[in-house]
Order: sequence, then structure tokens, then C-alpha cells
Amino acid sequence: MRVEVLVVGGGPAGAMAARRLAENQKEVLIVERELMRLKPCGGGIPSTAFQDLDIPLRVKHVSVNKIRIYSPSDRVLEIALEGGSIILVNRREFDSCLRDIALSAGAGLVVGTLTDIKKKKKSLIASIKTSQKVIEVEADYLIAADGINSKTRFLMSIKPNQYVYTLSGKLEDTTTDVCEFWFSQAHAPRGYSWVFPSMSGVSIGTGTFEPKEAREYFKRFLIRRFKDDDLLKDIKQLRGYKVPYWSENTYYKDRVFFVGDAGGHVMPFTFEGIYYSMKSGAFAAQAIIEGRPSLFKKLWRKRFYSRFRLMKAIQEYFLKSDDRFEQLFNLFQRKDVQEVSMLLWLRKDSSKSSIIRYINFFRKFLH
Ligand SMILES: Cc1cc2nc3c(=O)[nH]c(=O)nc-3n(C[C@H](O)[C@H](O)[C@H](O)COP(=O)(O)OP(=O)(O)OC[C@H]3O[C@@H](n4cnc5c(N)ncnc54)[C@H](O)[C@@H]3O)c2cc1C
Repeated sequence: MRVEVLVVGGGPAGAMAARRLAENQKEVLIVERELMRLKPCGGGIPSTAFQDLDIPLRVKHVSVNKIRIYSPSDRVLEIALEGGSIILVNRREFDSCLRDIALSAGAGLVVGTLTDIKKKKKSLIASIKTSQKVIEVEADYLIAADGINSKTRFLMSIKPNQYVYTLSGKLEDTTTDVCEFWFSQAHAPRGYSWVFPSMSGVSIGTGTFEPKEAREYFKRFLIRRFKDDDLLKDIKQLRGYKVPYWSENTYYKDRVFFVGDAGGHVMPFTFEGIYYSMKSGAFAAQAIIEGRPSLFKKLWRKRFYSRFRLMKAIQEYFLKSDDRFEQLFNLFQRKDVQEVSMLLWLRKDSSKSSIIRYINFFRKFLH
């Protein structure tokens, strides 16, 4: 089989890349190993992302108009979301909807697992294991959209991404009408714990850089949030999973583009990855459409680099101790800080002025 582009992974990054390529008359094939996969994920996506990326909101969802932040000393800040909302989706349905859009645009799909890559002078040959046989696909370019445990990275001899470890699951018969973010070194050192509404009940999780302690931190969070020291047994779909911890990374190597979690494109501090994976997929597609592989890195850096650097600096300074988080909490109480946060995070404002205003709020803390 021969195609112009082989996309490995049909999650948000891969489906968006394939869609853009197909819409621009490129011959593109997605290889996805599990069509019914339910990625462990809070499923929270800013509503503006749907407009920005022209995604029809066909899937069932919950819409939230407020977030609540809990400080280590139990101060609570509720922020009404202005100019948008958070849409919470079921990832199985959302990913499948994105793939359907790509297929309607003309992309092909094969259900199988990428197992090997051979490099040729002007192309690559990928081996794909399907339920019946191993097929070989020759492609001019490959887009690695196969997530945090990327096999493509491994086959291309690129070291794995650094990561934050999460433990998360679902609790039924409980509701919340806001997205809750809970901070404390006691249950989420250098990260946060969350409770998000979901289609049935709530999704709960905690993020930590210490995988071995994750279960203990998760239990402590359940006690803090629900005042119940025996709730772990009621958590459904409890799963540990990694989220990339962003650092400057390989964008393109030997005809392979690295997008989404496979490229480490998750925003530090918020750990928002769905929007950025779709954007990185779209940027890689643009680079192929224009026949300029280096354009991928240029587009990504121009749009996101300063934001990612700033959020990483904020994470590394303010999430280091409870006292420092309380300082950040004080800043977030200011209306002007909230306003610019909403512009950047919820509305995905791309202007330089917003980022400069944001940097100025934190200047005295971050050098
Ligand atoms: C617990 C948790 C909560 C999160 N909550 C949020 C949230 O609320 N909002 C948000 O924006 N982000 C969230 N994220 C991050 C978000 O889930 C990811 O950033 C996003 O899924 C990345 O998309 P992707 O397409 O790059 O990778 P993935 O979604 O991981 O998709 C990769 C695809 O590749 C396929 N695949 C893998 N290997 C192969 C192979 N060898 N051959 C063929 N196919 C393969 C997989 O089956 C999968 O479909 C969360 C992450 C976690 C772990």
C-alpha cells in the first residue's frame, strides 16, 4: 500500500491532522489500534476550541460555566467563565466523532498497531499488525499521534517524554456543577487534584510527579473532598496514566512529525492537552500541505511557545509549596488577573498584548 501520509493514532491529534490533510486533497491513512478506546481523561475542552477548529458539537456533553479553586488552607475562589464555557465530553464518543469527520473528508482508516518503521531515502515503510495479517504501508511522511507511550518515538530512537502521573476514575451518584481544582502538597505535590462533572456522576483524579505515591495521594484527596476514608472502593474505572510534562521537544525527524502527547504538547500547570493536540495535528498537516516540514515547528512556536514557557515557570514556582500556592491564589483573586486568564485560557486569545499583561502580573515572582 502507498499513501502520501500515514497518521499513527486516531485520537484528537491524529484525527485532526488527517482531516486537514484530506480536506486539502492529500492521500492520508489513519492507523488506529482500538476504535472503542476510552482514554483516561477529564474530557474538559474550552468551548472556543470547537469554533477555532470547526468541530461540530455532535457528541453528548456537559457544559460548565464556573470553575472553583481550593487553596491548601481551604480558601475557595469561584470564577464565572466569561466569553465561553468548558465542554466536558466522553472521550470514546469525542475521538470517534473526530475520526468520522476525517473519514468524511476523504481519509482512510485501518484498524491495527504500528510495529515497525523502515527508513528509505524519500519515504518510510511502516509495518502494521492487523487482526489478520501484517501489512506494509509506504508513505512520504508519517505523523506520530500515538500518545504519551508513543511507539513511533521509540522506533525513531527519540527518548520518551517526561511526564506527570495521574490516577483517576469515576464516581457515580454524585454531581457537581463546576470544574473543581484542588491544590495541596498533601494530595497533589507540584500538581492538582480535580473533580469534573461527567455524563454520569463525576470524574476525579490527582496528578503527581511521584507515581509510587499516587494511590496514597488519591486516597488523601478523597478524604479531603468527600470526608470519607473508604470511598476508594466505589471509584469506577480507576486508572493510572501519564500526561506529558512539556519541554522543548523533537518536532520533526526523518520524515516523521510528532504531534499531541507524542510530541509533548500539553500545557504545563493546567495539563490541558486535547486542544493543543488538535492544534499541533493541524500545524503538522499545514506543513505537509505547503511542502515545508520546518513550518510545523515555526507555526507551533509562534502560536504557543511563550505561553507554554510562562505556564511552566508559573507551575515550577507556585506549585512548589503550599505557601507559594497561597500567593498565587491571592493573585487569582484580582479581577484583572482573572480577566486575562480567561482571555488566554478560555478564549485562546492569540494577541501578544494579553501574554505581556499576563507576564507582568507574575514578573516580581518569576525571573
Ligand atoms: C487523567 C487525565 C485527565 C486529562 N484531562 C484532560 C482534560 O480534562 N482536558 C484536556 O484538554 N486534556 C486532558 N488530558 C490530556 C489529554 O487526554 C491528552 O493530552 C490527549 O488525549 C492527547 O491526544 P493525542 O491524540 O495526542 O493522544 P491520545 O488521545 O493518547 O491518542 C493516541 C491514539 O493512538 C493510538 N495508538 C497508540 N499506539 C498506537 C500504535 N502503535 N498503533 C496504532 N495506534 C496507536 C491509541 O489507541 C489512541 O487512540 C488528561 C489526561 C489524563 C491522563
